[in-house]
Amino acid sequence: MKRIHSLVTGGAGFVGSHLCDFLVSQGHHVVCVDNLITGKLENINHLRRHSQFRFINQDVIKGLPRFLALPRFLRDVTRGFPRFLPKADYVFHLASPASPVGYMKNSIETILTNSIGTYRLLEYCKRKGAAFLFASTSEVYGNPHVHPQVESYWGNVNSFGPRSCYDESKRLGEALIYEYVHKYKTNARLVRIFNTYGPRLNENDGRVVSNLITQALHGDDLTVYGDGSQTRSFCYVSDLVRGLWAAISTPRTAGEVFNLGNPQETTILKFAQTVKELCGKPGAKIVKKPLPQDDPIKRKPNISKAKKVLKWEPKVSLKDGLQYTIEYYRGRI
Ligand code: NAD
Ligand code: UDP
Repeated sequence: MKRIHSLVTGGAGFVGSHLCDFLVSQGHHVVCVDNLITGKLENINHLRRHSQFRFINQDVIKGLPRFLALPRFLRDVTRGFPRFLPKADYVFHLASPASPVGYMKNSIETILTNSIGTYRLLEYCKRKGAAFLFASTSEVYGNPHVHPQVESYWGNVNSFGPRSCYDESKRLGEALIYEYVHKYKTNARLVRIFNTYGPRLNENDGRVVSNLITQALHGDDLTVYGDGSQTRSFCYVSDLVRGLWAAISTPRTAGEVFNLGNPQETTILKFAQTVKELCGKPGAKIVKKPLPQDDPIKRKPNISKAKKVLKWEPKVSLKDGLQYTIEYYRGRI
């Protein structure tokens, strides 16, 4: 039987580690490349004993395989790349800080990972004929004027603000994919991931799901930014992972863009109330904090295209997903 090889950048992160679990369970030989800037070895320790899994501690923006001639000004950021790039049939480029706290702290690294990192991996896929998937984000829609967001919407994004390092570098990554597909017929596609949650979501990265659950479990006040009327739509991680696989493995999806997320929309205030109840802390206090700059007012995916082309839709309800996630955090207290 033919061996299937998958390369997952960002595989020690929240989504990446679940994707590695899934791919190994499907019999793939998986190489996880991660520099642990926001990820944790703890997320993949259980896999490291597995003969089909290999972890490489590597920054995707540093060093280049020898066959890539680079302009001189880029050489110093690319020194030291091991000439390893292992054989891969599928390349999932998930490396990138993802939470506002994570990408604002590592803003330059985020820009380079989504630009130079994407370029390098596309170049690899072009040469080796591997299928490529880029983890883009609903943030490319910015503070949207179209609701729910459909793939054809161009977005309303601030190119010069605290979220720009993330939003604009993801948009640049998307533009690179467009060029590689149209110039070189590279087998590449991208998914725009909407807020995803579940076990292994880093409790310290400031995202609303981890913040509110850990606050509730510790008996602290729950922090809601602004008046809590802004909306998000939360997707459970196992649903997302099925979507990532469908997007890379469905025939004739090169050059396509797919929204992946759960269309069940909630205000953040209502979400905080649900978390309180599911954590068994109905009396916990909600305190209001200032809304961060450029925080989108509403967000909800239109997933008609993923449903039609990928035959994919989320299955896990918010209540069930939150219960699994709360159990995970309870086990860590
Ligand atoms: P995460 O921070 O848990 O995982 C990202 C991983 O990438 C980390 O392990 C980190 O160490 C690694 N990484 C970052 N820069 C790197 C580099 N230069 N070289 C090698 N490794 C590097 O975040 P996540 O939530 O798992 O997000 C995964 C991907 O999905 C990201 O690309 C993110 O933009 C995208 N995404 C996630 C969400 C979400 O809600 N979780 C939403 C939209 C998009
Ligand atoms: N948020 C909040 N309390 C928190 C953390 C975040 O009210 O403790 C809000 C945040 O302002 C945003 C929403 O929750 O409106 C989702 O934030 P998150 O950082 O999880 O992801 P985003 O969708 O903003 O990237």
